This record gives sequence, C-alpha cells and structure tokens, in this order.
Amino acid sequence: MLAALVLASTAAFGLAGNFATTGFIHHQQARQLNELSEVVLRRSEVAVDLAAASLDELAGRGFANCDPTALQAVRLHIYQRSAIKDVRLANPDGSVICSAYSETLEFDKGWVDRADMLSSDDKKLLLFRVEQFGGDALGILRDIDAKKALVAIVRINATLFDIMPADLRDHSEVLLALNSGETLGEFALGTDKALPSPIEFQKTSTRFPLRTTIRVDRAVLSHWNAEVYWPAMAIVLVLGALFGLLLARSRRTEGPIADLDRAIARSEFKPYFQPIFDLRTGAIKGCEILARWQREDGSVVPPMNFIPLAESSGRIQVMTWHLLQRALSDLRPHLRAHKDFKLSLNVVPKHLLSAGFVETLRRTVLSARVSARQIMIEVTERDELDDLARAAALVAQLRSYGFRVAIDDVGVGHSGLSRLKGLGANTIKIDKYFVDTIAIDASTTTIVEMLVVLAKDLEMTVVAEGIETEDQRHALMACGVEQGQGYLVAAPLPYARFMELLEEHASRRRSETSHSSNAMVA
Ligand code: C2E
Ligand code: CA
Ligand code: CA
Repeated sequence: MLAALVLASTAAFGLAGNFATTGFIHHQQARQLNELSEVVLRRSEVAVDLAAASLDELAGRGFANCDPTALQAVRLHIYQRSAIKDVRLANPDGSVICSAYSETLEFDKGWVDRADMLSSDDKKLLLFRVEQFGGDALGILRDIDAKKALVAIVRINATLFDIMPADLRDHSEVLLALNSGETLGEFALGTDKALPSPIEFQKTSTRFPLRTTIRVDRAVLSHWNAEVYWPAMAIVLVLGALFGLLLARSRRTEGPIADLDRAIARSEFKPYFQPIFDLRTGAIKGCEILARWQREDGSVVPPMNFIPLAESSGRIQVMTWHLLQRALSDLRPHLRAHKDFKLSLNVVPKHLLSAGFVETLRRTVLSARVSARQIMIEVTERDELDDLARAAALVAQLRSYGFRVAIDDVGVGHSGLSRLKGLGANTIKIDKYFVDTIAIDASTTTIVEMLVVLAKDLEMTVVAEGIETEDQRHALMACGVEQGQGYLVAAPLPYARFMELLEEHASRRRSETSHSSNAMVA
C-alpha cells in the first residue's frame, strides 16, 4: 500500500516533471536563441549606425565631392574604420559619381537604382545589397543634399555572426538579410551541409530594413543545455517520493473515521448470528445479529471497538442497514421456511429516533420478502432514552406494522423498571451481568424474579444473555426466564457456521422425536 502510493506519486511527479523540465529547457533554449538573434541584429544596426555616422562626418567636413584631396581624406577615414570597404559619391538616383577606391568599382557585379534601395526609419538613409566578387556587402546611402548622396560599402564581417555557443556552432546558421529577403551575410561552418530539420528564430529591426535569422538543428537542440534535465528530474522524483510518503502518512493518520468509511465502502462489516434458544427444550427460536468487522488481513474486530465510533460519527445508520440487508439475504430461505423464527437487530436509540427509520426498516424487510413479525428490534436501555414519549410512539408504530421490539441490557441501564413499563416493548433482555451472578448471588435472583414478574404483567417475553453454564440455565429457568442466549449453545457465528448449527439442532430434534415416539410405541 505504502510502496504503491510512493511509486504512483513518484511516477506522477516524474511524468509532470519531465514535461515541466523539458518545457522549461525548451523555453530557456528559445529565449536564448531569440536573444542571440537580437545580438546579431544589434551588431548589424551598430554597423549601419557607424557607417551613417562616418558619412555624416565626411559630409560635415566638406568631403562630399570628388576632389583628390577630399578622396584622400576619405581614404584615411576608411583606413581607420575596418568595417567600411569604400565610400562613394552618388547622384540622388543612386548612380555612382566617384569612389575613394575607384578600383573597387571593378569588383561590383551590379549596382541597384535608388528605387530598389530600402528605406529606413531615417528617410535619408537607404540600404541595399552590393554584389561583389569576393562577397556581398551592404550599401548604405546617405542623402547629403538635393544633388548628392554619400554611400558607404560595409563589409559584412563574419565576426558579426560569430556568436553561437560551441555546442551549436556546427549545427546552426546565422543570417543577416535585407527585408527584401536578399542575404547580406551568412555564418555557417558546415555551409555545404543543409540543416536536416531546422528550428528558426528571426528578429527584424525597427530602424533599418534588416533582419537576422538563426537556424538550429532540432536534434542538436534537444541535447543542448539539457544538463539541467537530470538534476531537475532528480529533484522532481525525490519530491514525488516524499509526496507519496506524506500522502501515505496522511492516509494512515486520517483517523479511525476514515478507516470506518473505507470498511463500509468495502463491505467489511459482516453479520454474525448468535442463536436464541428455549431454556427448557434447547430449541433455537431465533438469532441476534452481532456485527463483526472482518478486516482485509483476516482479523475480526469486535463491535465494542467500532460501534461507539460509528454511533458518534453518524456512520451507525448506514452500517445498521447494511448489516440487516446482508442478514436478510443470508437468512431469507430459513426465515421463509420457519415463520416462527425471529431475527434480532441491534439499533441505537439515536438511530431509532431518527427520521425515516420505520419507513426504511419496512422497505428493507418488505423487499427481502420477509414478514415483519419475524424481525425484532433491540434497543438498549444502557444509554438513557431521554425522550421516552417519542420512543414509546415509535415502538407503537413498529408494533403496528408487526415488528417486535426488545429492550436490551435490562438491569444495567438508567431507565429503571418503571420506565420500561411505558415503552410497550415485546421482550426484555436481561443483561449478562445478572446471569453471571445468578447461580451464586441471592440478591441477583431476587432482581431477576422481579423482572420476570414485571414482564409477565406487561405480556413481555424474557431473554437472558450470556448463559455459559448449565447452572446458570437452571437458575434462570427457576426464576421463570423462558429464553436465553449464550456460549452454552453457541457464540455468535458467521452465516455458514450458523446454518450448520441450525442443521445440527434440527437433526438432533428429529432423532429425539423419533426416539420418544419409539418409546411411546414400546
Ligand atoms: P449485546 O447486544 O448485549 O450482545 C450480546 C453480547 O454478549 C455480544 O457481544 C455477544 O457476543 C456476547 N455474548 C453472548 N453470549 C455470551 C456468553 O455466553 N459469554 C460471553 N462472555 N459473551 C456472550 P458482542 O457481539 O461483542 O457485542 C457487544 C455489543 O455490541 C452488543 O451487546 C451490542 O450492544 C453491540 N452490537 C453488536 N452488534 C451490533 C450492531 O449491529 N448494532 C448495534 N447498534 N450494536 C451492536
Ligand atoms: Ca443485543
Ligand atoms: Ca447485553
């Protein structure tokens, strides 16, 4: 039970933990790769900003012309700024007028018209791709005045993209492109190898028509940063086991009421049957249902260990009905075959006085197709029947339907003999306390005799409980007690054993009657 709970809890935590940890790792990876895309974009933006600032500076210093001195100054400027390959003077339409390094013009594969250049947030700044032998470059056009513009040719440096963590470098690509989709630069170590199943992270600049893309192989990603997986899972699994233990503990310490509920749900309460016999002949006249809690482990719990709790926790009702139903279904054949056989059921006063008791009793007995006359309700007078008038009304109601009522534990209770008169019961059951002493104590004999007289006056039968010896049986008979119950005949028995006992008695009686009839013939 404990192991199962701990195992189940650990498994549940493990499953949830796997999802959570994997989810967390994926989330962390995505965040990290998004950040890297952002870094590439920022670096590119800085490169554009630097180039634009250079052009502004050159224009400000009056070098936006094709004079040799101006071009000389521009070349110096370029020399100091490694990212810029060349600076050109252009017409407003974008066509080149002159270049700081005129020979680089020969490397151009083509040159775009202004119409094909992409505008920025800053309208005086246009971006375009410069296709050159030996690698593409980024062209940045800065309008100086209505007649001319300056263009910087910016090298798209690999260092701009070299940001990928070592684990991912060989399995990822970093791209910088214009918003038009034209690639400006690319960083991919295994350039010839296409990524089998890439995940893409993209960032677009709000200032320039630029975007960066990082693509990572999905398979590699599942290992990357997964170092946290097992430590995280270990913590989760330990927590799961601890939770299971706590749960098991809490279930165990949930208390006896929870135990009771579980036992009720599992039908662990069973009726045992103790015969009620004729003291003189020994014939079995009926039986009393005595509850037993048969636990899963086979142990049997006596009623005094759970009836008081069942009563105080309000479980006694459901338990009582359950016991009666089982007893009725067990004994139905016998009850129907022997119409004078009585079945006694213990009912606590609280239950008897609760709403719907009589109705439920009737329904239960009726649906078992057993006569109400065969059912005896035993109400203990051990606890005070505080509302004697109501109890009497209920007894009257029960009797009007044919049920019998017995007052249990007579002699040890609070009521006193006078109160018993008003109740209108059919039977009084003399407590074992008197039976224990009847054979040895004269005062007990007096009390029992008085009880018997009272019972006869009220037309009640008397049953003595707990008869263990022949001496007790004789002493009780001498007091006028007619029926009894006790180990002398049988202890409370489970159904099958009780039926065996009934069968035994019946066959003994058959042989006795055949003996006596034989004797009469003889
Ligand atoms: P009770 O109604 O007075 O039942 C008689 C008790 O005396 C039973 O104890 C029975 O086993 C025991 N007994 C019978 N003959 C002898 C004997 O010769 N010697 C000895 N030493 N004991 C004998 P049990 O079964 O332990 O029940 C104890 C009490 O628990 C019952 O006393 C009754 O008050 C209560 N109880 C049992 N079953 C139920 C039930 O289903 N509902 C309610 N409300 N109370 C129950
Ligand atoms: Ca009883
Ligand atoms: Ca008793």
